[in-house]
Amino acid sequence: VPVLTISDLKASVEGKEIVKGLSLEIKGGEVHAIMGPNGTGKSTLSSALMGHPKYEVTDGTVTLNGEDVLEMAVDERARAGLFLAMQYPSEITGVTNSDFLRSAINARRGEGNEISLIRFIRQMEAKMKELDINPEFAHRYLNEGFSGGEKKRNEILQMMLIEPKIAILDEIDSGLDIDALKIVAAGVNALRSPERAFLIITHYQRLLNYVTPDFVHVMMQGRIVKSGGPELAERLEAEGYDWVKEELGIVD
Ligand code: ADP
Ligand code: MG
Ligand code: MG
Repeated sequence: VPVLTISDLKASVEGKEIVKGLSLEIKGGEVHAIMGPNGTGKSTLSSALMGHPKYEVTDGTVTLNGEDVLEMAVDERARAGLFLAMQYPSEITGVTNSDFLRSAINARRGEGNEISLIRFIRQMEAKMKELDINPEFAHRYLNEGFSGGEKKRNEILQMMLIEPKIAILDEIDSGLDIDALKIVAAGVNALRSPERAFLIITHYQRLLNYVTPDFVHVMMQGRIVKSGGPELAERLEAEGYDWVKEELGIVD
C-alpha cells in the first residue's frame, strides 16, 4: 500500500516562498481534497511534488513508502508512481497524443518492461471509449487545439493508462460541463483502490459530489490550515473562505 508523506514542505518560485511549511500524509485507498482560494500555492505544491525545475524545494521532506522523493529525478518520480494531471496541460507540437501516452506508460513501466504496440493500442482505444474521447485524438498533436474540457479528459486518459500509485489532479474539474465532469469522475472512481491514492485539488465542491473524498483540507497562504471530511467542502461551497480566516485569525 503506497504512503506519501509530506513534512513541513517549503517551496519557492523565482525566489519567492509560496508553499510555507505544509504537512500531509496520503495513504493507499484514500482520496484527499485540497481546496483553497486562488494564489495560495496549490499548483506550486503539485509542481514541487513532481519535481518541476521552476519550483525549488527549500525545506522539508517528501517520501513515498520511505523513499526520498525530493532526491528523485522527474522520470524516477513517474516510475515510483507519482502522477500529476496539470491545471494547464502543455501543448506539444510534433508529438502525437498516442506517442506521448505510450512513452508516458513506458516511463512508468521502466526499461526492459515496455508495453507492446498492440497491447498499447488496445488499452488506449478502450480507455478513450470509456472517456468518450473521439479516436481521432490519438493522432492529434498533444493538446494542440484541444478545448479546455478535451485537455482535462486527456489528462484523465493518461492517468488511466499509467495507473499511478499517487494521482494528483490539479483543478481537473475546471472548464468541464456537467457531462464531462461525470465522465471524469467515473474515470477517477474506476481507479479507486487500496493500491492507489488521490489528491484532488479543486476550487469547487462540484466534483466532490461525484468523487467522495475521505479528507478535505483547506489551503491558505501556503499551508494547510484546516482539515475535515466532505462536510467541510460543502460549507466552503456555501459560505466561501472568510469564516475560515475569521476562525483562525488569518489576515491577508
Ligand atoms: P493556486 O494554484 O493556489 O492558485 P499557484 O501555486 O498557482 O496558486 O500560485 C501561487 C503563487 O505563486 C501566485 O502568487 C503565483 O503568481 C506564483 N507563481 C506560481 N507559479 C509561478 C511561476 N511559474 N512563475 C512566477 N510566479 C508563480
Ligand atoms: Mg489558481
Ligand atoms: Mg492552481
